[in-house]
Amino acid sequence: MARTISILGATGSIGTSTLDLIRRNREDWRVVALTANADAAGLARLAREFDAAVAVVADERALMELREALAGTDIKAAAGPAALVEAAARGADVTVAAIVGCAGLAPTMAAIEQGGVIALANKEALVSAGDVMTAAVARHGATLLPVDSEHNAIFQCLQGNDLAHVRSITLTASGGPFRDWTLDQLGRATPAEAVKHPNWSMGAKISVDSATMMNKGLEFIEAFHLFPVGAERLRVIVHPQSIVHSMVEYRDGSTLAQLGPSDMRVPIASALAWPARMDTPCDPLDLAAIGGLTFRAPDEVRFPATRLARNAVVEGGAVPATLNAANEIAVAAFLDGQISFTRIVQSVEDVLLRGVPAAPVCLDDVIAVDAEARVRANELLERVN
Ligand code: NDP
Repeated sequence: MARTISILGATGSIGTSTLDLIRRNREDWRVVALTANADAAGLARLAREFDAAVAVVADERALMELREALAGTDIKAAAGPAALVEAAARGADVTVAAIVGCAGLAPTMAAIEQGGVIALANKEALVSAGDVMTAAVARHGATLLPVDSEHNAIFQCLQGNDLAHVRSITLTASGGPFRDWTLDQLGRATPAEAVKHPNWSMGAKISVDSATMMNKGLEFIEAFHLFPVGAERLRVIVHPQSIVHSMVEYRDGSTLAQLGPSDMRVPIASALAWPARMDTPCDPLDLAAIGGLTFRAPDEVRFPATRLARNAVVEGGAVPATLNAANEIAVAAFLDGQISFTRIVQSVEDVLLRGVPAAPVCLDDVIAVDAEARVRANELLERVN
């Protein structure tokens, strides 16, 4: 019998990779909701192709275009943040959370409240909401499956094992396009250079995060919540080839790793088919052609983001949500040409140094912390410019 699926962020890099897999296995899936921010034309095309029940744009200015593009179909068109939450709350066997940024938090929480499987790519939502999200998952009997390649790798390496036997979990990092650049060169890095990732094809925001290593910082916080072994057992190692996606070391000295091509369709397929497996169109891994796998320690002088994230996990409370929001503002300002590359992480640290609100205990609290941090981050950026 076909399973139902909703894709939040259907027009993005993860969304289209997911739909590519669905397209190849059309009879296995029935599409409920597809969402986008403002790309009405792209969303309507996908909604028509996959015969979605509902298509939602977050940006209300795009509704007219969406309605026109869906004219003559039975697909319901809607717009705005509340419509996004309503679409997620329709429930589906699998909801792929692939909106970028904390904007994905409320719809992801709405999907969690319906139970079912949440295939989580939207790391910012878990970083910001942390315990609030994991508690909701437990309360509503939902299943949170990580799509982020590192966390999906860890999830796979943990199957059949007990967390109590884990000695350490190591997240691998490609190091991004600037991993060998000097601090001087980093100060002059342009947005065009930052979004050109050497191994992965991804959206602009995560590409910049990868270049600053904030992506690994966010992933550290994500891992802390998904795999509760304690922050002191979580490590980061730079692995430029992006073939080993992460590793788990056990108390007996065994280290299990998951390897695969740098193609997000592999971890997405793992989440869609779990606990079974499905085919992907990816080329088999050719280790002889790759030749060598190398590893090195991260350099937190040039890339301090992982230090900030580790501290954020230790401090807890509203710190991770503040870090995430400040980073979203800084990345947008960098992409917009307003600040330099090295200023991104500096400005996150500046926002954190100004103090954070009380620990959030519910979704509204998290949204308030996020909003406050954005205001502070914008104020600081205006002062510097
Ligand atoms: P993209 O920028 O490619 O796509 C983002 C999606 O979210 C688009 O559908 C976009 O719509 C939608 N969107 C953007 N802003 C909003 C908003 N304010 N409200 C509602 N929807 C919005 O991002 P990616 O696919 O690269 O990343 C998505 C998430 O997955 C991120 O959290 C990222 O960290 C994570 N991830 C991504 C990986 C990758 O390989 N790309 C790997 C691992 C994790 P529109 O098209 O209209 O702008």
